[in-house]
Amino acid sequence: MESQYNAAAIEQKWQQDWVKQGLDKTPENSDKPKFYALSMFPYPSGNLHMGHVRNYVITDVIARLKRLQGYRVLHPMGWDAFGLPAENAAIDRNIPPAEWTYKNIAQMKQQLQTLGLSIDWDREVATCSPDYYKWTQWLFLQFYQAGLAYQKEAAVNWDPIDQTVLANEQVDSDGYSWRSGAKVERKLLRQWFFKITDYAEQLLNDLDKLPGWPDRVKLMQENWIGKSVGAYLEFPIKGSEEKIAVFTTRPDTVYGVNYVVLAPEHPLTPKVTIAQQKEAVEAFIKEVANESEIERTAEDKPKRGILTGGTAINPFNGQEIPILIADYVLYEYGTGAVMGVPAHDTRDFKFATENKLTIKVVIVPEDTDVGTIHELPEDTDVETFHETSLREAYTEPGIIVNSGEFDGMKSTEGKTAIIEYAEKEGYGKARIQYRLRDWLISRQRYWGCPIPVVHCPSCGSIAVPDADLPVKLPENVEFTGRGASPLAKLEDWINVPCPSCGEPAKRETDTMDTFIDSSWYYLRYTDAVNDQEAFKLEKANDWMGVDQYVGGIEHAILHLLYSRFFTKVLRDRGLINVDEPFKRLLTQGMVQALTYKNPQTGKYIPPENVVYKDDNYRDRETGEILSFFFEKMSKSKYNGVDPQQVLGKYGADTARMFILFTAPPEKDLEWNDAGVEGQFRFLNRVWRLVVEYGENKPKQVKKTTDLTKFEKDLKRAIHTAIKEISEDLEGDYQFNTAVSELMKLSNALNDAKCLDSAVYQEGIETLLILLAPFAPHIAEELWHDLGHKKSIHLASWPKVDPDALVVDEITLVIQVMGKTRGTIQVSASATKDELEKLARESDIGKRYLEDTEVKKVIVVPGKLVNFVVAK
Ligand SMILES: [Zn+2]
Repeated sequence: MESQYNAAAIEQKWQQDWVKQGLDKTPENSDKPKFYALSMFPYPSGNLHMGHVRNYVITDVIARLKRLQGYRVLHPMGWDAFGLPAENAAIDRNIPPAEWTYKNIAQMKQQLQTLGLSIDWDREVATCSPDYYKWTQWLFLQFYQAGLAYQKEAAVNWDPIDQTVLANEQVDSDGYSWRSGAKVERKLLRQWFFKITDYAEQLLNDLDKLPGWPDRVKLMQENWIGKSVGAYLEFPIKGSEEKIAVFTTRPDTVYGVNYVVLAPEHPLTPKVTIAQQKEAVEAFIKEVANESEIERTAEDKPKRGILTGGTAINPFNGQEIPILIADYVLYEYGTGAVMGVPAHDTRDFKFATENKLTIKVVIVPEDTDVGTIHELPEDTDVETFHETSLREAYTEPGIIVNSGEFDGMKSTEGKTAIIEYAEKEGYGKARIQYRLRDWLISRQRYWGCPIPVVHCPSCGSIAVPDADLPVKLPENVEFTGRGASPLAKLEDWINVPCPSCGEPAKRETDTMDTFIDSSWYYLRYTDAVNDQEAFKLEKANDWMGVDQYVGGIEHAILHLLYSRFFTKVLRDRGLINVDEPFKRLLTQGMVQALTYKNPQTGKYIPPENVVYKDDNYRDRETGEILSFFFEKMSKSKYNGVDPQQVLGKYGADTARMFILFTAPPEKDLEWNDAGVEGQFRFLNRVWRLVVEYGENKPKQVKKTTDLTKFEKDLKRAIHTAIKEISEDLEGDYQFNTAVSELMKLSNALNDAKCLDSAVYQEGIETLLILLAPFAPHIAEELWHDLGHKKSIHLASWPKVDPDALVVDEITLVIQVMGKTRGTIQVSASATKDELEKLARESDIGKRYLEDTEVKKVIVVPGKLVNFVVAK
């Protein structure tokens, strides 16, 4: 035992010892209740940053706490290891993606281990390893067999110079290639999709089964799924048998339709276009074809459209209306056509105004005098009539006007009535539509899981038989960044006999979206080394769902939605028996640090080039005044703090304490060196407290049921800490207030005057157990210093003794004319009269009330007695 707190030495020692003891292994045969604590697994970029540290420390505290509370805990870690950066590194530096990835994994694993995380490394997975992706392929085939994986044409980003498909991340915000600088084009390719839309309603409804998720994440998912209830309506085309189908959430405005808009790609577009417009329409289509979906639908961009010359008929009133095509209507979404109601839709209003189209009002606010509108002669120009009120679209509900037999109805009733009428007349029907679209899972990239399908000229697309899995990713590939995907160039790999007829066939060369790899990894952890199955049903059922999932808010939509979708599909395939993968979700805040910026140039300035002079932070070279603020740590802003440096200087326990204490877990955390220093000092105080106790420990502790006042006070402090910390760590995990309670208990022990008492010993040991999840190394060291032989992490979380919390004495403040003169200790059960009497008869009372006349006495029970005296 050293007398100085040497974090580096004890942390290394215990990390090795815990591994040797197998302390973090997942109990296999145990009657204890289960707890599955999971961090979102990292992409192996090679460097652990502070955001990772915060994420994994939070999960680790929860895992350690639950073990102490008597649970058997699964706390695994792995690597989301497929993806583009490995491929870019291969192109830039000529390193095989596998080599680059595994080197990074080794480096990050080593860094993670210095944090003292209680991870069961026997269950480590890497999604790029064949023994993992064999099962990703097997699961893909489960979807395929269920009819949930299919192929259709979809647009990709095409680099016309390098003749290659680009990932979205390889296209800059202006639509240019990262590598060649060429303007990226849209090109249609046959690609694979997962039919997530089949589960839209369940994915929406089951959000109600997730009370342990943050509301804002559930709202984001709800909006992403985007359910809308409305009507499907058909507009006949003049001079044709064909009809234009639209979906609308506002059937009550159907009499206000002034035009219909087709997506440029809509198959009806060439049919409705008249000869005079053909050239212009074709030019417009070509122009739009090169725009991304985001460009086409961006709110802040003017919407462009063009008349086709064709005419549609509004079946409700027989009115002839023009047919346009416009960039903002997407063929993949809904029916690929929309009805234009400029008076009652903001986007339509803007579009109609810009394109000088008619605007007809059919809904007016409820307080409008509808009677006058009805009395208007037939030929009144309604648009002019409402001109004053129509500087913008009226999108609220109201009263229906100019709509035949529906006039005078409230728009809400009108919706139902108009849908019923449409169904009766055969114009359309009620329909529910979702914003959610099928999941495009094909990637024309190398470093991903190969799609286990073979294309045969006679049999079509054939699944690779289970026995032939995995379809291994060849490692001897050449990366140029040009031309077809490296896989498409490997003749040996591509050409295989058809699994069905044996004739020459070709492998699918697309790989899977990496979001598939991460949609089931939490299931693999339950049975991570199984080479016969993706996971054993019993094991997955035993551990699922994840009791606490911890990760960044950036995954609020895709990763969480896809994982929920996977769980539901696998449940329906009989592979698991839960509806939802993650019972509780904690989205930790960002780690921010101070940045300095030159407001004139907009440039970030590294801290070493900043000086504080004449009340301002200035650029050391130019003397210009800099602005400063907290922002997410990043290299480009020069505000990153390297975890390894902090750990090297203070140790993992201090870093953990700082991260947990400085902000509630879901809030952003502002890094400050003084705060780190503060936690280091706190751990040093605990160290001295326990070491001194160890050195001066009485041979025999005084055990008695009849406690002195000092003992009672200390006992109350101990059990208050147990109560408060247990509550702070229940559900919402308020680590910051829990650490404050640890500090209070440490102070109480420091001030206590009963070192030879059993209560003091209880206090020291309780402090260490309560500290153990937060600062596991120092707690372990000091625990052994007290003579314990077994690990503190095998101890039991202390229980609150309600009797110890009862206060039997309080401190009563004595005031005279509102001025505090002193305090006395009195019984907590004293009545108002007794309090007044005790105050009067105390030394303080006697001294200050001598020779005065008490006019009035104010008693606040439990707090104070105030004497109002005559002057
Ligand atoms: Zn065949």
